[in-house]
Amino acid sequence: MTLIRGLRVAGGHGRALTMRGMTTDLASPALQQRARALPKVLLHEHLDGGLRVGTLLELLRQRGIEPPAPDEAQLAAWFSANAHAGSLEKYLQGFALTIAAMAGLPALERVAFEAAEDARADGAVLAEFRIAPLLFEPYGISGEAAIEALLAGLARSALPSGLIVCALRHLPPAETTRAARLALAWRGRGVIAFDLAGAEFGFPPGGHAEALRLVRDGGLPLTLHAGEADVAERVVEAAHLGARRIGHGVRLVDALNDPARRHLVDEVRRLGVHLEVCPTSNVHTGAAASIAEHPITALWQAGVSLSFHTDNRLMSCVSFAEETATLLRETALTEADLLAMAGEAVGHSFLPEATRTQALAAITAAIRTV
Ligand SMILES: [Zn+2]
Repeated sequence: MTLIRGLRVAGGHGRALTMRGMTTDLASPALQQRARALPKVLLHEHLDGGLRVGTLLELLRQRGIEPPAPDEAQLAAWFSANAHAGSLEKYLQGFALTIAAMAGLPALERVAFEAAEDARADGAVLAEFRIAPLLFEPYGISGEAAIEALLAGLARSALPSGLIVCALRHLPPAETTRAARLALAWRGRGVIAFDLAGAEFGFPPGGHAEALRLVRDGGLPLTLHAGEADVAERVVEAAHLGARRIGHGVRLVDALNDPARRHLVDEVRRLGVHLEVCPTSNVHTGAAASIAEHPITALWQAGVSLSFHTDNRLMSCVSFAEETATLLRETALTEADLLAMAGEAVGHSFLPEATRTQALAAITAAIRTV
């Protein structure tokens, strides 16, 4: 971690992006290009939330499912309308569609491959994707078979990547325990971590103690969604349950601004926990009012280890490059900040050391040009 920490570059917080004396208009295509070229590390993206629109349409038709819109443009507009409806229920409707569309082994392989290729095209030097494999059981696909197909798809891309197995926290503990056993069976064979995803509020991680104990005892790294829809205390709770990374964790910002709870931020820093922040997704689900006001800036400036991710590209109508460009355009974060975040992300990646070293080299080289 020390090496990565050393990469942190003090940001200038200017509204313009300056590269070797040249100023780039932050609304210009040049910014989009720079954002795409910037080496990035993807730690938090759900495979069932990241399908290409064209692929979703094709897969739905193959399975005889009527899509909610007849062509790519209208289907993208449908997702965009749901994303901006201010309703988590509407936002989540999209997942029922994607799971149904992906419920075949060739489809799972294809979606994983395309996600890795999209990340690579957007400048990712390393990626971790996640999904709940047991969601395909009602379609006759075992968790084992789903994981095998997904890993085959990821392996077909040149991008170094791994798979995080999610369990859904609103399901009974017996289900999350089954997902944990499945993840452990694939440890060392492409599955790199375990996560509790799904509705956070009302479903604290402590309710799944058995699954978390199995994962910890089995030596599989743990990341937990926390502090997205629930309070800052959940972030520290997740860390104490063994999570080395936290999905979102943005409500920690409330503790930052409250002297009585400031110790929560200190504790997160002390434990060396890394936040996988997903700005656009947070705006869509109401966890943040706007990108400009998103807690990522304040938490970063407070010295919390974090990085930025896409969460659900399809539902949030965003790419990794667009997420990058938006942060540069609408926050005080600079290109140097985003590169330093990528360094932090590499340091907290669950992928093998050789992969991380290679990714770090690309990031370090880019830092020298800023
Ligand atoms: Zn997520």
